[in-house]
Amino acid sequence: MKDTSILTGKGIRTGAEYIAGLQDDREIWTQGKRVKDVTSEPGMSRGVSSLAGFLDNQHNDKYRDKVTYVDEDGIRCPLSFKTPKSKQDILDRGKAYYEWATWSHGMFGRTPDYKNASLMSFAAARSFLDQGTKGNAEFSKNMLDFYNYARTNDQILTHTLINPSVSHKQAAAGIYNDQVALHVVKETDAGIIVTGARLLATLGPFADEIEVFPSTVLKADPANIPFAFAFAIPIATPGLKLICRDTYDNGKSNFDAPLSSRFEEMDAVVIFDNVLVPWERIFMYGQPELCNRAFADTNAVVHMAHQVACGKLAKAEFLTGILCAIAKATGRDKDLAMKGMISEIMMMTETVRALLYQAEHDAHEDQYGNFVPNRRPLDTQRNLFPKYYPRMVEMLQLMGSSSLMATPSEADFENAISGDVDKYFHVANLEAKDRVALYRLAHDVCVSGFGSRQTLYERFFFGPPHLMHAAYFDLYDRDRVIDRVDSFLNQT
Ligand SMILES: Cc1cc2nc3c(=O)[nH]c(=O)nc-3n(C[C@H](O)[C@H](O)[C@H](O)COP(=O)(O)OP(=O)(O)OC[C@H]3O[C@@H](n4cnc5c(N)ncnc54)[C@H](O)[C@@H]3O)c2cc1C
Repeated sequence: MKDTSILTGKGIRTGAEYIAGLQDDREIWTQGKRVKDVTSEPGMSRGVSSLAGFLDNQHNDKYRDKVTYVDEDGIRCPLSFKTPKSKQDILDRGKAYYEWATWSHGMFGRTPDYKNASLMSFAAARSFLDQGTKGNAEFSKNMLDFYNYARTNDQILTHTLINPSVSHKQAAAGIYNDQVALHVVKETDAGIIVTGARLLATLGPFADEIEVFPSTVLKADPANIPFAFAFAIPIATPGLKLICRDTYDNGKSNFDAPLSSRFEEMDAVVIFDNVLVPWERIFMYGQPELCNRAFADTNAVVHMAHQVACGKLAKAEFLTGILCAIAKATGRDKDLAMKGMISEIMMMTETVRALLYQAEHDAHEDQYGNFVPNRRPLDTQRNLFPKYYPRMVEMLQLMGSSSLMATPSEADFENAISGDVDKYFHVANLEAKDRVALYRLAHDVCVSGFGSRQTLYERFFFGPPHLMHAAYFDLYDRDRVIDRVDSFLNQT
């Protein structure tokens, strides 16, 4: 494996450089076969191209100063890697996240800024990692080196946090089964050897590096020591296999499948078959209790939730736009019932915006001397959106109804039935082709496999809902509101 600890890169990459970097020995499996090259694999290559296009945007005069920064060594890097030292830095991060998200209208959920935010937080709070120092290991130095490597080489990261559960009873108790869960089998002079599985890694096949970070529900029990670690390795590490789900990009044109033809980001289960993880790539090891606190105590969860809120705002605006466009096309924008329904999604969108505003404007200095957004509004957002999004999709289905099935393909506008299609598929305020394009877009949001996966993603990608709700409850200042009730009951 290359020694990445000393490789300072030249900063932001072009799309072509990113694509060239993916053409390595990575072991990716899909639909019964090993993929030779993800950059040319049908069903994968167009997602890669979209991401490459986003990287090219970093060089574009229109976006460069919004989404990148120049560090003290004169290297231009993604802004999401910049350690925030003021409220303005938090506001600038928010603008950059939002810009990235609008390039796919939130439909490419795992843009690299999500993981960059997490890595920035861990590096900025690296003294936290020294609490877990083992032997000669220098966890905080390892983290700083990896951060600088990823930052100055514009590396794209994925992560995998969850152990597959053979038994939910065991998992709920925070105990892992070493037949499947990823665990350490051996320590050597070079590093640790790990075996087992993790799920999932969204973007895994298209990433440069994978962070294998702690599952946050690890019981502080000596039996869990082999399961407690945080490390990062290249996707093309020997013994690492990514087993992908079926693609949702079925080769259709941009007209026929406007989202799935562009934004297939892929998800994979990750198998580690006696993988060597070098000591210099390990950031935590053997301390379950410390692992449990890592995302919260480094504020990584807050910075990630900030990126997420910006992305969800872009996505909510896009869905609101689709509903409004359909109402306008059919003339139903004058209809009282329709206004009532669409106002519901408008309010959801504006709630996300308001929570984001509060989080950014209440940003404050953290325990490490860096700036962090206010956590509670972001926690509120990330607990609400998994409920909002399925409702948004439902509204689109209710509004679209059979029109979501009245969707001839692009070719039908050029063949023997084009006259029929032109004649019978128009609506009050849209020509047939524009109407079909709009409903095909709606279909890709609320009916297609791509759209269903988006809903599943929104429900789960940030963690199990019951645990996220419980954490919200635990962090809430309950005494303050109980005191109000008590003082009311005690008044004479
Ligand atoms: C599209 C998609 C992309 C993802 N990408 C990533 C990624 O890139 N990296 C990553 O690490 N993870 C990723 N995940 C995984 C995600 O973190 C998990 O799906 C999530 O944490 C839930 O865990 P689980 O899937 O094992 O569900 P389970 O733990 O099996 O839970 C299933 C359901 O049961 C509920 N449940 C379970 N136990 C209880 C209980 N005791 N009380 C009440 N309800 C309970 C859960 O809330 C959930 O609704 C992704 C998931 C999806 C769907």
